[in-house]
Amino acid sequence: MRAFKLIFRPEKCKGCELCRSVCPKGVIGMASQVNAKGYHPACAVNQEACIGCQSCALMCPDGAIAIYQLEEGDQ
Ligand code: SF4
Ligand code: SF4
Repeated sequence: MRAFKLIFRPEKCKGCELCRSVCPKGVIGMASQVNAKGYHPACAVNQEACIGCQSCALMCPDGAIAIYQLEEGDQ
């Protein structure tokens, strides 16, 4: 089974939650701490469920999300 890793750039995030709203697997949540801009940035709360559909990254207006497919043995 393919596995994916989400990389967030919390310093670019404005906490709009668009990524969370489009994720079909409930992978994304909002961090309890705030970033330098005072927003609660998006983060992965259920990384294992990610199917790599890219919807979150495409939806993000600030390019704050990247998705990588893990090779066997990757963390
Ligand atoms: S790639 Fe798809 S499944 Fe994975 S976190 Fe983004 S929207 Fe959710
Ligand atoms: S869509 Fe982008 S800016 Fe909006 S909460 Fe998600 S990561 Fe942050």
